[in-house]
Amino acid sequence: MDSIFDYKLSDMQEYFTSIGEKKYKAKQLFEWLYKKREFKFSNMSNISKSLQETLESDFTTSMLILRKKQTSKLTNKYLFELDDGNLIEAVLMRHDYGLSVCVSSQVGCNMGCTFCESGRLKKVRDLQAGEIVRQILMIENDIKERISSVVVMGIGEPFDNYKNIMDFIRIINDNNGIGIGARHITVSTSGLVPKIYDYANEDLQTNLALSLHAPNNILRTKLMKVNIAYPLEEVMAALKYYIEKTNRRVTIEYLLLDKINDTENCAKELANLIKGMNVYVNLIPYNETSHIEYKKSSNETVMKFYDTLKKLGINVTIRKEFGGNIDAACGQLRASEVEK
Ligand code: SAH
Ligand code: SF4
Repeated sequence: MDSIFDYKLSDMQEYFTSIGEKKYKAKQLFEWLYKKREFKFSNMSNISKSLQETLESDFTTSMLILRKKQTSKLTNKYLFELDDGNLIEAVLMRHDYGLSVCVSSQVGCNMGCTFCESGRLKKVRDLQAGEIVRQILMIENDIKERISSVVVMGIGEPFDNYKNIMDFIRIINDNNGIGIGARHITVSTSGLVPKIYDYANEDLQTNLALSLHAPNNILRTKLMKVNIAYPLEEVMAALKYYIEKTNRRVTIEYLLLDKINDTENCAKELANLIKGMNVYVNLIPYNETSHIEYKKSSNETVMKFYDTLKKLGINVTIRKEFGGNIDAACGQLRASEVEK
């Protein structure tokens, strides 16, 4: 049976038409679910008894199960259990501009980046759109506050689960529902080139972040084996297409690993690679994990890397370190729980 949370408004309208109901009922149902947060069909007072029963037999409305929550001053980290027992995580971050949530897109990840905990455990399966939507519903219910932005940067490679991610975006972006503005939604990819083109061609005002992490093929292939299938030149060409097509600025994520990709030469090479493009670089301090031997770059090195880029005219910021102490980086909580 489908989860009701897998359905975009247009899917729901189609469904209503297919069972001989009026299309506008779909909007009412959407409002119950996402505005009033009423998940019991039998409590939806403007929906007829017989329709309530049909919905009951056609859809599940189960929520995720909260298995664990770790909190610190600026972050909450959630471990959720899915209907089939698999575990995923999501993180809430408090910024000065509002609340953002980082959601997972798959159970594990097959990209196998050598620095990443999510990639250490192989992909079990893709998440359904509704399982990603429910991460947000669960967190909003927990904190009794509304979230203003969403990043798809948790466990998984979103572009390896493309259709469900696009459905997820359309569900949370819909004004009849949660209504998170497209400009406040960001998808991060390790660089699945064909999907960057597809994303550019969607009619969406959402954002794209690219995990670059290295300024040349030799180094990037060492860190990210996806670079063998889609080398740097192809990724950069796809980015240029995306920027031209959407007119949107792309975030380049660059993880700083001690003595691996944090030298002055790397900074210069990076500046050369992206010079003149409508991008900005977000330098990410590495969150060390016990299973992987990379170390984080020293603060001094991070500042030097930042200065070098700045001097070469590159827009650059350093990511605030959220909750390193509570395993807040990608996949670490799940990995420690699964391995227990
Ligand atoms: N698969 C997508 C999105 C999820 S990973 C991608 O790779 O972009 C989100 C970001 O977290 C990526 O930029 C990834 O490189 C980064 N990341 C992974 N492990 C990390 C760690 N231990 N510390 C800091 N960032 C990490
Ligand atoms: Fe997957 Fe992203 Fe981790 Fe790479 S960094 S293994 S793509 S989750």
